[in-house]
Amino acid sequence: MNWSELTNKKKRLKGGLHIHTTLSDGHKTPEEVAEWYRNRGFDFIFITDHNKVSDFSYLCSDDFLVLNGGEFTAGRTDLGEPLHFIGLNLPPGFTPSSKSSPQDLINEMREAGAEVILAHPYWSQLSWQDIFPLEGILGLEILNYASEVAIRKGYSVVHWDDLLNRGKRLYGFAVDDSHFGIEDGGGGWIEVEAEELSLKGIMEALRNGAFFSSCGPKILEMKIKEGLVEVTTTPVVSVCFLSNLALGYCLNSPDDSITKAQFELKPRYKFVRFECEDEHHKRAWSNPVYF
Ligand SMILES: [Zn+2]
Ligand SMILES: [Zn+2]
Repeated sequence: MNWSELTNKKKRLKGGLHIHTTLSDGHKTPEEVAEWYRNRGFDFIFITDHNKVSDFSYLCSDDFLVLNGGEFTAGRTDLGEPLHFIGLNLPPGFTPSSKSSPQDLINEMREAGAEVILAHPYWSQLSWQDIFPLEGILGLEILNYASEVAIRKGYSVVHWDDLLNRGKRLYGFAVDDSHFGIEDGGGGWIEVEAEELSLKGIMEALRNGAFFSSCGPKILEMKIKEGLVEVTTTPVVSVCFLSNLALGYCLNSPDDSITKAQFELKPRYKFVRFECEDEHHKRAWSNPVYF
């Protein structure tokens, strides 16, 4: 079994992982972006401008971190579009040596100390075959809020399941990709469980999968005990456990009365992840547990 328990015993930190500013094609300055997210209860953000990594340490305080990231593209799919990658914790000034190979770009970002996420698979019209060969990415964006608001291509959960079904181990990330030319802020985030609000604490939680993704509800606890996965959430109308192929189970209620659900593990399950949905049709997604 391989997974990260959510215990609700460590610090819970709300974070935005994909945000643009006026340093590339965004409409708010880094200062305005930091203020905007801080005022909405975020504890940390990564600023991920296109092809540019800047040092935002001057915007950090004891209770809010602005961390360095960047968005870079490489390769082409059969439809002629490049793949977009988010590098988290890239050094300021980072420039990749080539744009031809997605794998080379991932390797270069990782060698520079970053963790890498594949951005907006649905918006990029990627198939699972485009993603499967990539090595060294932490995961993919399962919700890119700006893509949803702009052209209804924000959700890439099917890509995620296609890959999980084929044995690829990837985390799922909800992000904004906010540019603030339209109302594309605050629609997708993660909540990490970390020892402390620090770059180290956040990067450790990301690497270990000690977080959930959300655009509304919260996952308070997720544990496995005596062959049962048990989850506790804020009030929701449904909790679904998803596994390989057609295995799975949904618990539904006409109102938002569900706060706890259990799922029995069977030997045929290769992985289990769960989603919950609140009365406003907002969802939260756990990371997979692998067997
Ligand atoms: Zn992009
Ligand atoms: Zn972007």
